[in-house]
Amino acid sequence: NPSVFSAIEMAPRDPILGITEAFNADTNPNKINLGVGVYYDDNGKVPLLSCVQKAENMLIEQPAPRTYLPIEGLAAYDKAVQELVFGADSAVVQEKRAITVQALGGTGALKLGADFLKRFSPASEVYISDPSWENHRALFESAGFKVNNYAYYDPATHGVNFAGMLAALKAMPRGAIVVLHACCHNPTGADLTSQQWDQVIDAVVTAGLIPFLDMAYQGFGAGIAEDGAVVRRFAATGVPLLVSNSFSKSFSLYGERVGALSVVASSADEAARLLSQLKRVVRTNYSNPPVHGGKVVATVLATPELRQLWEEELAAMRVRIKATRDAFVQKLKEKAPGHDFEFVRQQVGMFSYSGLTKEQVAKLREQSIYAVDTGRICVAAMNSKNLDIVVDAIAKVL
Ligand code: PLP
Repeated sequence: NPSVFSAIEMAPRDPILGITEAFNADTNPNKINLGVGVYYDDNGKVPLLSCVQKAENMLIEQPAPRTYLPIEGLAAYDKAVQELVFGADSAVVQEKRAITVQALGGTGALKLGADFLKRFSPASEVYISDPSWENHRALFESAGFKVNNYAYYDPATHGVNFAGMLAALKAMPRGAIVVLHACCHNPTGADLTSQQWDQVIDAVVTAGLIPFLDMAYQGFGAGIAEDGAVVRRFAATGVPLLVSNSFSKSFSLYGERVGALSVVASSADEAARLLSQLKRVVRTNYSNPPVHGGKVVATVLATPELRQLWEEELAAMRVRIKATRDAFVQKLKEKAPGHDFEFVRQQVGMFSYSGLTKEQVAKLREQSIYAVDTGRICVAAMNSKNLDIVVDAIAKVL
């Protein structure tokens, strides 16, 4: 006899997880998964950062009961994040116009922001880059928004279609929510220049749009301050602003789910009202966030030696990715003369839209190299041991 569940259909598979499943089932010992969204070190391992281990040792020395955190999260964490994102001496922090709540990773921060916006700007439509992180659309749609694309990537140049992007911003209706990648665009690796950001900020302010900056890779582009600069520039304009940030990658704390949502208001009084409403969103979703990851990040950010160590460890990840881009391009130049991959050097962050077609990706898979159908490869999944294998395989399918 049929139940309410009997007519439910199978949901479509997550495209990235599908790659992982196929990869796991492959018995070739030389298989390589370039489809991942995770930083691996030169040994192909997800690093456990020393700053994290040291902070955890400090926490173990002071065992604490596992009480509930406040709805908005650990106060020391929220403060440290806010200062990292906006700067301790920024006007928004000094004037108490910014609020920050601990969130379940960057995804959780985006969802809090989406639910919050749906309550207070229900008629707005959301605009995401074409293409964008694949969860942006689903996440805002599940919060009840109509989600549109704005022009972003230009396959011809492997860079940003800036004229198209600017035209799209100027054509958006007032009050539209525009999701912008603060740095290290996922999936393309193509970022705006500082001058282009000037024009984007100007267009967003003039058109009365609501900017929602997603910063999941701070420190993987040019540096912590450099990558965060656009957030501070937006904050300085005085427009309403939402910022989601994640420590999954920058602290290699993926499974601990540490991120935050910050919202900038026009006054301290408005900020207090926003916070009270944001707390309702949290309370009705998961009540309050988990303790461990927030404590680790707060400890690292607030302890000078550990913070120094974190900055060095993050820099090492950034430098390794850059060196891998260079080596990848150089080796392809030798193995596949006549094919220009120079653009991979210009792209930033963990990913590259390699320009490989769906058919070429399928042929790579026959050689046990797994990439996303769009041609996205994770540069951080390549290392000194597997780079030659990857490059040889690519040279064969070009
Ligand atoms: N935003 C972007 C652009 C991302 O690439 C990711 C992760 O891949 C996220 C948000 C989500 O981060 P988290 O894993 O912390 O939820």
